[in-house]
Amino acid sequence: MVGAGRPEAEQFTPGLPGPVFAAHYHLAGEASGPYTYGRDSNPTWTLLEQAIGELEGGAEVVSFASGMAAVAGVLLSQVRIGDVVVLPDDCYQTTRALQERLESYGAVVRMGPTAGDAQIGLVEGARLVWVETPSNPRLDVCDVRRVVEAAHAAGALVAVDNTLATPLGQRPLELGADFSVASDTKSLTGHGDLLLGHVATRDPELAEGVRFWRKTVGAVPGPMEAWLAHRSLATLQLRLERQTANALAIAEALRGHSQVSGLRYPGLPDDSSHEVAARQMRRFGCVVSFTLRDEASAERFLGSLRLVMQATSFGSVHSSAERRGRWGGDAVEPGFVRLSAGIEDTEDLVADILRALEKTA
Ligand SMILES: *Cc1c(COP(=O)(O)O)cnc(C)c1O
Repeated sequence: MVGAGRPEAEQFTPGLPGPVFAAHYHLAGEASGPYTYGRDSNPTWTLLEQAIGELEGGAEVVSFASGMAAVAGVLLSQVRIGDVVVLPDDCYQTTRALQERLESYGAVVRMGPTAGDAQIGLVEGARLVWVETPSNPRLDVCDVRRVVEAAHAAGALVAVDNTLATPLGQRPLELGADFSVASDTKSLTGHGDLLLGHVATRDPELAEGVRFWRKTVGAVPGPMEAWLAHRSLATLQLRLERQTANALAIAEALRGHSQVSGLRYPGLPDDSSHEVAARQMRRFGCVVSFTLRDEASAERFLGSLRLVMQATSFGSVHSSAERRGRWGGDAVEPGFVRLSAGIEDTEDLVADILRALEKTA
């Protein structure tokens, strides 16, 4: 995986060629070939897409300018007037914000929770079922194989938002999904310094539809971002090992803590998601969520942290945390904290969090 997407060795060339900055390429005569115009194709995207395709277990990949460009690239390219779309009611809130757009195009949107595979009850007559597991921010999990089975029996396609897990944590296409979609802004690239997304599928026709969507709306990644992302993939496994170990250590330290309620981490053996998560995930991700007494306690806690940056998003090598309720739009308590574990020393990180809780009491 460290070498994913690297080109064949060629004497006197670098292992990973630098980013190609080009709006157009030399193109005489027939307008065909791999590289014609910068909105259609770019050699730096090609290498990144091959690399992510390997991580996804073999797939065609279309990279996008952001996670939302990828999410919208599936939802808006696959759904037509009269189609029924099933969305999770607890998924990433900007994905849910597409409900209004889909309805304005004449689609029918049904929503159900992730936990308990409740979306299965909504698949009859659907065209597309959208799944996000673990869900962001409340970390519920659904059984992807079961949802896929029910959706396929009803003639629906299934897309999984795999942002939190990354393909090294969970491979939706191997669980039967038609699309694996992610914000690569988060754990996949992991440095908190760029926005990017991708769509992976094993169906060439579906891939073609999504690629044509990217070209027509122009939601293309910049070559610099694509190159940085590819460079970052070499350390993905190392980052995830430390981040998941840190997340588990934090969850274990918070379990039973007098100030903490509603602790969630799918990697904790007694978490309500663990049994299903353990069946379909190889790594449980870097996000831990929990609730402190109220908004003021959560703010005091966040303000007392030294190693954890106060910021939204997750998946960076630098730990971060926020009071999720400050954005509105998620069904969470005022004291709900989403914490993303970075790659800091485990003992230092746990000590910092426990010290901040002490200051909060
Ligand atoms: C962040 C996120 C997105 C959107 O990604 P951007 O790169 O911010 O556009 C989509 N889904 C999930 C689960 C996310 O966490």
